[in-house]
Amino acid sequence: MRIPIIAGNWKMHKTVEETKNFWDTVKNWQKPSGVEAVICAPFTALPALADAARNSEIGVGAQNVHWEREGAFTGEISPVMLKQLGVGYCIIGHSERRAYFAETDEAVNKKAKALFDVDIVPIVCVGEQLEERENDETKKVVKRQVTQALDGLRSRDVKRLVVAYEPVWAIGTGKTATAEDANDVIAYIRKVIADLYDQQVANEVRIQYGGSVKPDNVERFMAQPDIDGALVGGASLDPASFRALVEGG
Ligand code: 13P
Repeated sequence: MRIPIIAGNWKMHKTVEETKNFWDTVKNWQKPSGVEAVICAPFTALPALADAARNSEIGVGAQNVHWEREGAFTGEISPVMLKQLGVGYCIIGHSERRAYFAETDEAVNKKAKALFDVDIVPIVCVGEQLEERENDETKKVVKRQVTQALDGLRSRDVKRLVVAYEPVWAIGTGKTATAEDANDVIAYIRKVIADLYDQQVANEVRIQYGGSVKPDNVERFMAQPDIDGALVGGASLDPASFRALVEGG
């Protein structure tokens, strides 16, 4: 049984003070059992969030990482640094990083390995651009992204991995894939993983949908057999909305 995981991706939002205010609103809330909840905050908010969330049922994630443990990489943050804060998850390969910061499949692969080395769970984002969808290349694109991201990973690590399928044209646009279309691509991603590893590994990997998920549409996605949660941008910023998303997951 795969436990669904609802992860908020705050992107470049929330100062330390705003993070503390968010936490003050959610801290006494009883998270439903049977669903995992994670907040992926900017680096500067992580110490405050990780401290506050330490004995709570909400997990803490970062949104990027470098693959080296330390070194002359000005402006970068290492997996060890995240681990020491108490971070349990890290988004890698988000389409915004691929588009604006030239993150490659090869870099995503190195980051995934480096995160597993310190026991942080990668949330690997994949997804096609509008033009690729229109050219009927969705499956080709996600197959390449998944295959390269997982290259050389051990099956016991892949089982713990989270994949987020985020069609780029659905991010922040208010447009969503239909739940059936999203499920179709996600089932295909599971098949790619089964071909790379085996069916048991593929059955254990959690694969989220992301792209304009809101409290009023989350249940439609969650009702699909292959969709194991959501990666949510805008609608995760407000505490009541984040809570509604987790309750709908
Ligand atoms: P929105 O939910 O704002 O569309 O963002 C999706 C996303 O990119 C999550 O990583």
